[in-house]
Amino acid sequence: MSRNHIEKLKCPKCGKEGDFTAWESISTDDAPEMKERIRNNDAFMWKCPECGNDSVVFFPVYYYQPDKNFLIHFVPEYSQAAENFMKNLSHDPYDEKTPLKSGCHKRVVFNINQLHEKLLILDEGFDDRVIELMKLFIIAEVMNKDKDSKVNEIYLNKEKDGSIKFALLFDGGDWARTEFIRADYDLIVKKFKVELLSDSEVVINIQWAMNLLNKKM
Ligand SMILES: [Zn+2]
Repeated sequence: MSRNHIEKLKCPKCGKEGDFTAWESISTDDAPEMKERIRNNDAFMWKCPECGNDSVVFFPVYYYQPDKNFLIHFVPEYSQAAENFMKNLSHDPYDEKTPLKSGCHKRVVFNINQLHEKLLILDEGFDDRVIELMKLFIIAEVMNKDKDSKVNEIYLNKEKDGSIKFALLFDGGDWARTEFIRADYDLIVKKFKVELLSDSEVVINIQWAMNLLNKKM
């Protein structure tokens, strides 16, 4: 169920106060307009009514998409409590009487890039766990070619031309792109079939993929 409240914000430019609608919880069945507004960051933008200055306001929000039975909790900074809460969550976060649908995929993300990546993965119909495993293999390949190169971040990304690629941020600040190869994705699905059967973890990132790989080897 969607929920929001009005917060008073002070404009960093002119100092004037104004109302901002902060969403604690978004479900695309009763707030369908938020599906797009969270993807284009509009949900996190506040325009000062006095001077028109745009501010970005990140706040924790639950995002539920019933057609994918997927619940994401976005928390702007790392929180062990949020992780534990999500892991044990079996009902609507703001309504104990409404249980989550069986097989609901639950995730917690701790920055806006991770949130956008999860939404892209959702839209493309991928499994985020497979994507994280792919990243490990991509990084291994990069290091194989040049053992001094260090990848600091890697994201699945939709390019301007609509193609899906991995974006890599190297130590030193350079970005690079590498192809998303469907055959590699399918191979991982096959190889990790058993491990992917249960979906009980809520923080799915490259560290999760590393732990899984270590356990398998
Ligand atoms: Zn202002």
